[in-house]
Amino acid sequence: MAFRICEDVGTTPRRKMTPRRALKLWEMHKGICVLCHQPIDGAREDWFVEHIQALENGGSDEDESGNLGPAHLWHKAAKDAQDHSLAARSKRQKQRHIGIKQRKGPPMVGSKDSPWKRRMDGTLVRRSK
Ligand SMILES: [Zn+2]
Repeated sequence: MAFRICEDVGTTPRRKMTPRRALKLWEMHKGICVLCHQPIDGAREDWFVEHIQALENGGSDEDESGNLGPAHLWHKAAKDAQDHSLAARSKRQKQRHIGIKQRKGPPMVGSKDSPWKRRMDGTLVRRSK
């Protein structure tokens, strides 16, 4: 038997963003950026529809949930990076919780998984179990 990944953890299916839907969300938020709360000049500034709580972090994709709204495009790179690291972290926590350990290479000396423990003075001692 093998462990198989059939579904991603905690993600929400993404609905299509249409111009009509974007307009509706723009009007719901009166053109105010959901990330910095400053008005967006739609004619001169690039903007996109932001999921305030990212889908990959379990955020809603419903227009009425308040999770979606217009945001300046220049926030996107920073927000995406933040969302991804948060998603990766919570994914690791879930995996640990259900007993999946992900390890690259041998355990680090001094880490909890290693039979060796590093003492305060820097010397290594065998961990007694
Ligand atoms: Zn903004």
